[in-house]
Amino acid sequence: MYYFPEEVHNIFEYIERKPQCKKKLIDVLHDSGIGPSKIASVLCTESGGVENVGFSQQDVINYLSVKRQKQLENGDAHLMLSYFKNFNHHQQSILFGCALLWDETEESFVWLLRTWLEAMDGVSPKTIITDQDTSISNAVAKVFLEVNHHYCMWHIEKKVPEYLNQIYHQHSEFKNQFHKCIHQTITSYDFDSDWGAMIDKYELQDNKWLKKIYSIREKWVPSYVRQSFCAGMSTTQRSESMNKFFKGFLNSSTPLSKFVIQYEKTLDTRYNKEREKNVKTRNSKPLLRTLYPMEEEASKIYTRKVFRIFQDELVGSQIFIAEKVKFFDEVSTYKIHEIYKEKPNYHVTFQIISKEAKCSCRMFEFVGILCRHVLNVFIKENVYSLPS
Ligand SMILES: [Zn+2]
Repeated sequence: MYYFPEEVHNIFEYIERKPQCKKKLIDVLHDSGIGPSKIASVLCTESGGVENVGFSQQDVINYLSVKRQKQLENGDAHLMLSYFKNFNHHQQSILFGCALLWDETEESFVWLLRTWLEAMDGVSPKTIITDQDTSISNAVAKVFLEVNHHYCMWHIEKKVPEYLNQIYHQHSEFKNQFHKCIHQTITSYDFDSDWGAMIDKYELQDNKWLKKIYSIREKWVPSYVRQSFCAGMSTTQRSESMNKFFKGFLNSSTPLSKFVIQYEKTLDTRYNKEREKNVKTRNSKPLLRTLYPMEEEASKIYTRKVFRIFQDELVGSQIFIAEKVKFFDEVSTYKIHEIYKEKPNYHVTFQIISKEAKCSCRMFEFVGILCRHVLNVFIKENVYSLPS
């Protein structure tokens, strides 16, 4: 709704009469995320008083609305593309849906998530990964009440050089230690312990950013987030791959009028790639690398891509040594580590009767594929077929 003086018959005419320099200032302030009331206040101060300003708060709102309308008509609006994606059974990125948002406010995200939930017949996702943004986080908490909300690790890690600039340049080994602490700790206990040692070593106790990311560690550190299934997602490549997904079809200057057509073309191309993989899985046999019956079984059950991951785990299991450290109530507990390496140690529990096994690396819970540590224990326990 626009409001303008009665003697003016057209909002465009009214806005055009306003001084050009003021409009530029409004554009700059608005692009920096400042709202109409604060913009009006800045204009007032900058003009030396309310009588000189020429723009009321309502004029600012009108001006921004008209500008937005014009941009939409011209199809060159800088809309933000939000999308929901996952992997298919070939571990290819697939798109469940996407939306064009005008802004990144909590209100817009709540609308987006509620609309998404409606489209999914009210079935909420189990896990959702977003960047570390307050508006999105609040919206997720409001709409998806029981979801595991994770933050994209890549978005957090890429801020390290920015927030720890001095340490980063003074201590060449810091980058390595930070990386190890996040990616090579198996359990949450290991992570906490390594993190504490790192903080002490570099005297980072007062670093606010580190305090903040540590306080939300359950949402992004692998040793914590691996407790819930998310098809192996959380890593950097996954969030970046959407740029590749749309490459050649969409870019930031695609007019709105062409967007839907290009979007459909992107999906068609993706469906074709999935069909190609289905045909390949059905019509060819992968090369086996071991004589274990479970490898052949897996080659018949899994898609080619998933089989390759399983096969790597099976072959990789041969480099581990498992030592039984406990046997109680028909459950064996093994400590397992690489040959010639004392650390890291993994712990596998194996139930003699049901043949169920669990590993401290939690690869099965996180990715849905048995890890090399469990496979090593299976062989040791004479389990040569995949458990049903
Ligand atoms: Zn494992």
